[in-house]
Amino acid sequence: MHELVILGSGPAGYTAAIYAARAGLAPVLIAGPEIGGQLSKTSEVENFPGYPEGILGPEMMEDLRKQAERFGTDIRYDVAEKVELRTDPKQIWLAGAEVLHAEAVIIATGSSPKWLGLEAEKRLYGAGVSACAVCDGFFYRGQPVAIVGGGDTACEEALYLSKLCSEVHMLVRRDEMRASHIMQERVKATPNIHIHWNTVAEDILGEKFVEGVRMRNRVTGEERILVVKGFFVAIGHQPNTDLFVGQLELDANGYILTQPKSTHTNLPGVFAAGDVQDPVYRQAITAAGTGCMAALDAERWLSAKKYAESQAAATTNE
Ligand code: NDP
Repeated sequence: MHELVILGSGPAGYTAAIYAARAGLAPVLIAGPEIGGQLSKTSEVENFPGYPEGILGPEMMEDLRKQAERFGTDIRYDVAEKVELRTDPKQIWLAGAEVLHAEAVIIATGSSPKWLGLEAEKRLYGAGVSACAVCDGFFYRGQPVAIVGGGDTACEEALYLSKLCSEVHMLVRRDEMRASHIMQERVKATPNIHIHWNTVAEDILGEKFVEGVRMRNRVTGEERILVVKGFFVAIGHQPNTDLFVGQLELDANGYILTQPKSTHTNLPGVFAAGDVQDPVYRQAITAAGTGCMAALDAERWLSAKKYAESQAAATTNE
């Protein structure tokens, strides 16, 4: 039986582990399918306080892992396949066949990229279709690519691609972008980024590899084929909460609902931190902050539980 199991190895999970381990809870952290979370797939992180020159995302996650391990976190490179959070102890079934029993659980499973839903996205995934410019941009050096989306992620990835690729075609479905002003300005000032306003991707062309995109202007109805070798999707994310449906209260978009100013979920001893409960801020620093909160909430909840159990035992013995 473990006092605390943490699900997820992004900034929220590792920060929760650092705090919990230093509080003597000997946490077990299940790294999940994407070790290091989304930051393990980014390049430069320039907005995390304490790194005046910036730091590479994978490097930062490696530092967080080492810090969590230094204080005694037991990191398991495994994936939770099923959970039962309504019982005491809570149970977590791992893909590696082990079943963990825990008094408290912190969920920090993050979110995953959204896709457009085109058949060709699946067929050509890894053959030109990608949701991560930093991971795959390198393959299209000197070649034209397209990227869909008008948020900060799309802008950031378009800028990254513009340094590698000959042309970057940005498909924005409205006549304005959702991205912050500064990111939009940077994109607009980059000569090899071409913004196609009011434009959607109708299909990705190519049998074995991406060869182009058929796009349509939503205002004029005009269709056009662009020759591109890479097709990047950057239209947002969805929370990784499939495991918890029917047990935890989720919002309409599937994010875990927490009680105001805390990381408590609707179930006692279950806490949520990071992007899995945050549709608004979604930053590494806010994920780390809520990871810290979850560890403090879990520690206090476990102390109160132990005190209540000792009081009950004393009453029985009287
Ligand atoms: P957002 O939700 O902010 O933006 C999604 C973009 O994709 C929007 O332009 C949206 O269009 C478009 N979109 C959504 N669905 C479709 C679709 N089916 N077809 C075409 N376009 C679609 O997601 P991001 O991932 O960009 O950003 C998430 C959060 O992370 C934000 O808060 C952002 O500020 C933050 N972030 C910050 C960064 C930084 O500070 N360095 C870097 C990256 C992200 P529409 O506007 O029409 O809905």
